[in-house]
Amino acid sequence: MRSFAAPETHFRIEVSKPGDHDGHQVGEPARLECDECGASVPIDGPDGHETAVDELPHSRGCSQRDVKSAWWMDHYAGV
Ligand SMILES: [Zn+2]
Repeated sequence: MRSFAAPETHFRIEVSKPGDHDGHQVGEPARLECDECGASVPIDGPDGHETAVDELPHSRGCSQRDVKSAWWMDHYAGV
């Protein structure tokens, strides 16, 4: 299994913790967070495919604003 951390981009996957009640199982990926500006978006459950790195509300000036779905697809397609 490959790491979530692409060498050229910097994002974190926050997993669901006990008590989060966010609709995810404990230990499941729950949020995608930009390591640079701290923007984060909820990750869909197993049946959802709406959430993407494209939707991260980066701050102005974040160098990762233009990181798009290629990263996401590369890491999640076929997982
Ligand atoms: Zn950012």
